[in-house]
Amino acid sequence: MKCYDCMEESKDTDATSVCIICGKGLCAEHTKVLELPVSVGMPPNVKRLPKGFPRHMCNYCLENTIVDGFD
Ligand SMILES: [Zn+2]
Ligand SMILES: [Zn+2]
Repeated sequence: MKCYDCMEESKDTDATSVCIICGKGLCAEHTKVLELPVSVGMPPNVKRLPKGFPRHMCNYCLENTIVDGFD
């Protein structure tokens, strides 16, 4: 698979990951890794897991997702 964002810039780069939202291929340069905090349990006994969930996203999806996720 080729990086979709590179294709739009008329470049030809192999994708190293895939956007988890829209599923398009992304090279390392165009991949945004978002570490989402993960919590388990119900209030008041909520535990924050020590490791976030690495999410690979394209620029577009990151911009459109982060607004709801982190307020
Ligand atoms: Zn790229
Ligand atoms: Zn995307």
